[in-house]
Amino acid sequence: MKIGVIGGGQLGRMLALAGTPLGMNFAFLDPAPDACAAPLGKHLRADYGDQEHLRQLADEVDLVTFEFESVPAETVAFLSQFVPVYPSADALRIARDRWFEKSMFKNLDIPTPEFADIQSQGDLDAAVASIGLPAVLKTRTLGYDGKGQKVLRTAEDVVGTFAELGSVPCLLEGFVPFTGEVSLISVRARDGETRFYPLVHNTHESGILRLSVASQSHPLQTLAEDYASRVLKQLDYVGVMAFEFFEVDGGLKANEIAPRVHNSGHWTIEGAECSQFENHLRAVAGLPLGSTAKVGESAMLNFIGEVPAVDKVAAIDECHLHHYGKAFKVGRKVGHATLRCADMASLEQKIAEVEGLIAG
Ligand code: AMP
Repeated sequence: MKIGVIGGGQLGRMLALAGTPLGMNFAFLDPAPDACAAPLGKHLRADYGDQEHLRQLADEVDLVTFEFESVPAETVAFLSQFVPVYPSADALRIARDRWFEKSMFKNLDIPTPEFADIQSQGDLDAAVASIGLPAVLKTRTLGYDGKGQKVLRTAEDVVGTFAELGSVPCLLEGFVPFTGEVSLISVRARDGETRFYPLVHNTHESGILRLSVASQSHPLQTLAEDYASRVLKQLDYVGVMAFEFFEVDGGLKANEIAPRVHNSGHWTIEGAECSQFENHLRAVAGLPLGSTAKVGESAMLNFIGEVPAVDKVAAIDECHLHHYGKAFKVGRKVGHATLRCADMASLEQKIAEVEGLIAG
């Protein structure tokens, strides 16, 4: 089976690494000449709106999937005429726009921060008056890794802030005094069967995910699965979807969804029976889903900007290096390490060892 992937970054690369043993082949559509998934399949170097290359991709593959959600809706609509596309255009439309996303949470009775649509500085002033400060202003689309958002703490922070974020449609959210951030990686098959990985505890630095630790048995697992099931069913979703939640007052508030494999699920490559990448491919290809059970205790550390010396990472037992082969750049995710240990005490010790390499 040949899979077309829109986007050729590290998520596409890891999809191909997981799908190759299943006998799958890959083609990536990505305008970047140095797309890091390119060595693992055919690289169609073209813009996401380039109909000639989209048609070529559709002709060459059995189905198309995505490694990022900011794909133009027209691209999905165009491809869907010629080839099955998973996840659906509807799921992408909702996930790429924070207003649609939060409105869906509200309609499904899933707790989420208070929010308001912002189309002007006047809207912002009015929303601040009703939601209060602190609050977070976010662009409705295209924000990632903390980009396209600003925390507003004082009245001065509000002045001119709509223009500061580019005078584009935004969302104002109440600031959540969370005690932790967790994510739930889910997978839903074409026949509706749904599986969940254990909740993951995430730590961010400057808006970028730094560390993910798979939980042993989280008291909020069932609640998270209940919320996620509502969304998956509503969208008749096929593939992996990640849910990010704030832990607050002993419950959960939904922050966002990602209609794709997710950074906080990278630990599943070595830490689960079947990884999120393989399960996404199984789901979109109509194969039976794989077990989401954890094998040992696992954590993932992102390498941001640069990867530590390979020999030093390789010298740490129970540590698995994933080097994306991307050019090093400040703030860019260029690799990660998965740690898999027999118990939590050993895992914590290994995390400290890898953190020592990052700091060094
Ligand atoms: P996001 O791009 O929405 O995932 O936001 C990036 C990070 O900003 C989150 O992981 C949180 O650490 C923080 N953040 C986002 N929204 C809020 C909020 N409403 N209240 C408090 N912190 C937030």
